[in-house]
Amino acid sequence: MAPKKYRPSDFNFSRRGGTCLLSNDFAISAEIRSGELLRFASGATLPAAVGKTLSSRGFFRDYLDFEKLMPGHFAALLADWAGPHVHIVAVTGDCDHACLYCGASASAGGRHMSMATAKKTLDFIFRNGARDLVIEFQGGEPLRNFGAVRYIVEEAGRRAAKEGRKVHFSMVSNLASLNAEKLEYLASRSVTLCTSLDGPARIHDQARKFSGGSSHAAAARGIAAVNKLAAKGRIEPLNAICTVTKFSLPYPRGIVDEFLERGIKRVQLGPLEPLGRAAGTDSLAVSPEAFLSFYSKALDYMLRLNREGVEVYEKGALMFIKHIVSGERPRYQNLDLLYRLAYGPDGSVYGSDEARLAAAGGNDFFRLGCVTGSFGDMVSSPLGRALLLSCFPRLAQPRCARCPYSAYCRVSPVYSYAAQGSFWGDMMTSGRCQVFMGVFDIIFDKLARPATRKLLERWAEKYQ
Ligand code: SF4
Repeated sequence: MAPKKYRPSDFNFSRRGGTCLLSNDFAISAEIRSGELLRFASGATLPAAVGKTLSSRGFFRDYLDFEKLMPGHFAALLADWAGPHVHIVAVTGDCDHACLYCGASASAGGRHMSMATAKKTLDFIFRNGARDLVIEFQGGEPLRNFGAVRYIVEEAGRRAAKEGRKVHFSMVSNLASLNAEKLEYLASRSVTLCTSLDGPARIHDQARKFSGGSSHAAAARGIAAVNKLAAKGRIEPLNAICTVTKFSLPYPRGIVDEFLERGIKRVQLGPLEPLGRAAGTDSLAVSPEAFLSFYSKALDYMLRLNREGVEVYEKGALMFIKHIVSGERPRYQNLDLLYRLAYGPDGSVYGSDEARLAAAGGNDFFRLGCVTGSFGDMVSSPLGRALLLSCFPRLAQPRCARCPYSAYCRVSPVYSYAAQGSFWGDMMTSGRCQVFMGVFDIIFDKLARPATRKLLERWAEKYQ
């Protein structure tokens, strides 16, 4: 039943044509008619159905069902915290590619992580990490320091078994130096693989420069080899990420088709960010408006394919949709540092992968310390505390405090520092904020259309 008398709880809103989107700290949203906003804000009587909806979604401060609502509140993020879950280990700064936009600033001859540092990194992870761990290998190109990868996989597996913990491994690789022996090993240890796929060769090879010829041909070979094993159930299907540059803009459909042609139904589209070598490549960067136009067309195309029975979805949109429609808060989406740490080849510790990339590009402002140090000291340092606060944009950013999307969004101080020269940045002029806001606008517009909502809800049910 909708209460007749109520006081609205704290809410954010945005007007969208004839409707108004409301959201609250429980990460729950609701759409009402624009004309009802003033009535709601002033506690006036609302149509029964609207009042009932708002009451059940935590918008009436005297009628809050805390048991039902609290799991969506940001405070609940810490409820079962037991140490960082995801550990991104850059085993090398060496790479056989020299991509124009490389965020890791990697190149041939870059520094490998030594076995001694790999051991100390594992000591740190097992000393401070959660009971279930994910270790993700990055670089540079991790296949170029395969000895360190093998060591970490074997040793982490041994320690996890001894301590009754779980550990899962993943690797981000350009696949150029993937051979049968390495692939067999990765499959035997259930290591999941993710690669870069910027589209067909004419797009992919423009920014991804490979000393051995066509980067696209090398990636396609690697993807085919992984797919072959995946078809036999011996390895998880591979994922891929498309970095959207000015080369991508005319081809939203061609890029989606390329993923499907390679047997990859999870498409991940992200704009080039100004980190590492990409900081000096303005000529490749895309404006927020251009990215959003591209992204919207790609999403529309994927939904059209869905209607024709083709399985395909966009990873970034999926994460937001899951959160919005099911209230299922991604545990570590907003909580770098406490849920996710990154490690450089020299054993440096960072509170996010972006921070590691910034350091690889020569800016170690965000370095928290070294694997021989104390995680407690890192978290309680001035930098650690500022990073933690930044994980809650609603509390830390004036624009986010009033933004209807703040419960779902993630602000990156590393991006702000790189793009705007300030830890906190200015969201009013931030390109990243503009992209996030535009992506949320697109998603909420689609969710407002019942037939499209059905398709997106199916994404949320079906995919991880
Ligand atoms: S960064 Fe922008 S889109 Fe995200 S919560 Fe803040 S104001 Fe909203």
